[in-house]
Amino acid sequence: MNEHQLTLTERMRILSQGTKYDSCNQSAVCHAFGPDGRCIQLYKTLLTNSCAGECAYCPNRSERDTVRASLTPEEIVKITWSFYRKNVIEGLFLSSGIRGDAEKTAEQQLEVVRLLRGQEFTGYIHVRVMPGTPKYLLEEIAENANKFGVNAETTSSVNYSEICPNFDYNNDILTRLKWTRDLIKKQRHKAGYNGRIVGANDTQFIVGATGEPDREIISTVNKFMNKYALRRPYFMSFDPVPDTPLQNGIPSPKWRENRLYQASFLMKDYGVKASDFDVIFNDDGFLADDDPKMRLAHEHPEIFPIDINTAARYELLMVPGIGPISANRIMHARPIVSEQELTRMGVIISRARPFIEINGSKQTNLYSFQAMETGS
Ligand code: SF4
Repeated sequence: MNEHQLTLTERMRILSQGTKYDSCNQSAVCHAFGPDGRCIQLYKTLLTNSCAGECAYCPNRSERDTVRASLTPEEIVKITWSFYRKNVIEGLFLSSGIRGDAEKTAEQQLEVVRLLRGQEFTGYIHVRVMPGTPKYLLEEIAENANKFGVNAETTSSVNYSEICPNFDYNNDILTRLKWTRDLIKKQRHKAGYNGRIVGANDTQFIVGATGEPDREIISTVNKFMNKYALRRPYFMSFDPVPDTPLQNGIPSPKWRENRLYQASFLMKDYGVKASDFDVIFNDDGFLADDDPKMRLAHEHPEIFPIDINTAARYELLMVPGIGPISANRIMHARPIVSEQELTRMGVIISRARPFIEINGSKQTNLYSFQAMETGS
């Protein structure tokens, strides 16, 4: 079917579905997290699903026979306002196929952002920038968007060239991650900074499209956190698309994506290092379908139980069922005298109990708990 025969609604549907490999899902609404951790609903669309690229997993790759559609910047602005005024969304997530080249595409994305901000749109704008976007356009995006970043997709230039043959990992991705880091830093230090940039660098990995094990993904995330101030990696499970070079590939289970998210939160918020996971990888470097924090705790019986009233914050954070917020509450409320108090602070006591004691009183011995778990 010719694009000109499509209605606006049909184009909107095609372009929301075309975001299959862009952070979260294929529906017209996706989620982001604000600075306070609150979930924000965004209208999610591509500018176009026409693309000059030939990424091996992508439904929009140039050689694939599929219906192509586009929205003009003016149409996206109108749709965004319409959803926004009805309180269906709080902002826009804008990605695109590469029409022409990265510069022309980023210019069109920027046009959407300019129009919205020019119309006093104060909602959230997340721009997924194209590999190879020029620096001067990134600079203007940084002035106006809340969040922007380029997808790394995988862990190395060798893997990347296998699945994204048109782009260069070092130049088109890593250099852009570095620029994004620097631009966000600059925005935050500007006089009169209005808090608009709320996110740090973000990127996405497609899990399972190449053979890289979790060990490699976790190590890369850790490297990106240190080097590019990456705060939130997104993980998308590989799911083969018909009529692509990877159509016969094996889909990656959703749980793997979830375990990688958990591992990334442990590195970001709990002080866990990439090398700490070594004890819970299998021989091939993969995580099990099990809570990585619980696995780590079981691998370190020498540390537990810890006393809730004397443990350092980093020790509290190692206890399953205790997160950064509940750890802070414990530190401020000491002395703690009962499990009920911990529950009120947000501790999941059924998970924490085998690993803690309160003023020298163990609730359950860790070793007996392990015996219970293993049936030994
Ligand atoms: S650049 Fe690659 S991943 Fe992005 S739309 Fe084009 S083919 Fe798909």
